[in-house]
Amino acid sequence: MESKSYNPFHVAQNQFDTVAKKLDLEAGVKEFLREPMREYHFTIPVHMDDGNVKVFKGYRVQHNDARGPAKGGIRFHPHETADTVRALSMWMTWKCAVVDIPLGGGKGGVICDPHHLSAREQEQICRGYIRQIAKNLGPVLDVPAPDVMTNAQHMLWMLDEFETIHGGKYPGAITGKPVGMGGSLGRTEATGFGLIYTLREALNDHNVDPGKTTASIQGFGNVSRHAAKLYDQLGGKVICVSSWDQDDKVSYTFKKKEGVDIEELISITNNFGGIDKNKAKDLGYEQLPGEAWLEQDVDILIPAALENQINKDNVEKIHQKVKFIAEGANGPTTPEADETIKARNIFVIPDFLANAGGVTCSYFEQVQCNINFFWEKEEVLEKLDNKMTSAFHAVNDLAKTKKLYMRDAAYVIAIDRVAKAVKARGWV
Ligand code: NAD
Repeated sequence: MESKSYNPFHVAQNQFDTVAKKLDLEAGVKEFLREPMREYHFTIPVHMDDGNVKVFKGYRVQHNDARGPAKGGIRFHPHETADTVRALSMWMTWKCAVVDIPLGGGKGGVICDPHHLSAREQEQICRGYIRQIAKNLGPVLDVPAPDVMTNAQHMLWMLDEFETIHGGKYPGAITGKPVGMGGSLGRTEATGFGLIYTLREALNDHNVDPGKTTASIQGFGNVSRHAAKLYDQLGGKVICVSSWDQDDKVSYTFKKKEGVDIEELISITNNFGGIDKNKAKDLGYEQLPGEAWLEQDVDILIPAALENQINKDNVEKIHQKVKFIAEGANGPTTPEADETIKARNIFVIPDFLANAGGVTCSYFEQVQCNINFFWEKEEVLEKLDNKMTSAFHAVNDLAKTKKLYMRDAAYVIAIDRVAKAVKARGWV
């Protein structure tokens, strides 16, 4: 992972502090909201295929559950840290609040690299994770979902372990499950599509025709490829995408000036979102260094890989043509880089608004599990579009009226909602 020197939790706290000052939050509320309410650190011993036992480290952090059960994904990543999970759980609190769904913020992670684990070993990690935390999860407590390098199969293994321990069927305990096993249609597309719904509104508000725009995307995983698909359907042209190369341990950018073919790229991408560089070359893609995605003369940048990817070391490389950044990843921009972007008047759709489609659809999944009736995909996506569009306009309107940067406006709405909830409950 690049830019390891940034601590995402410090970034999250710094962003919170800036807005807490603007909101004039009471000292006690501020102190309470800048830390997670609860966190769990545990070990997961696994009998590996070679007969040895390997012990993995797992985390679950529940930042705040004043507005409803904690909600957030579980990541598998070799560089996962407690502070990354803390930051992500805090961002989940603001994310659920900004789209106004009745959930709080949580996040989990396991330090592991699934590239080097068999399916059986991954299943054992999933089941071991749940065994350590089962008493503190559930539909009324904390509801996990997939995230980086975890998928619907991982969620089903986790749910199965949860149900075995608790002795019953609790489909609402975990979201992002396979369709037909309690999953919602549209969940796979939800984050990427949600991002493009907000981008569509932003372009429209600036009288920009999406059909006349170009974009560069970092990442080619779940979020980025669905964002690319819908943006393409709106008439936009993606000229490059980047992805992590597991063999070379660096990222590469793959470019076609005339526009990439998304389906073609998907066909040469592995399960972890890594594009096969040799096949890309055969198909005529120009292979550039990992950071080149940021330097392209495009209208729109979509960072949709990992946190801290736009930072003080590379922010100046953003091309003068760029007018919009839609943040698909969580925390892709460090505060220093954000200052430069703000000064350059680039319109930013901040992460916890832009990528809230996933959790919104996860919420729909829970609702469908509760009523035991599943909606058609069109219905899910229409509801998602409505939620994302109205959340975008609430933030955009506030930004315009109060002359706020979009990120600050989103924070003001989200923090205010959560602060009111903790006060109304009499917690502080
Ligand atoms: P993913 O694992 O499906 O894909 C990640 C992609 O990023 C892969 O293509 C990988 O090759 C690429 N990548 C990794 N490191 C890179 C690097 N240094 N440079 C360039 N590319 C790199 O993950 P995802 O689910 O698409 O999540 C991406 C981001 O979006 C994460 O920050 C995640 O927390 C956030 N997010 C995901 C969801 C969701 O529903 N999946 C929801 C909200 C936010």
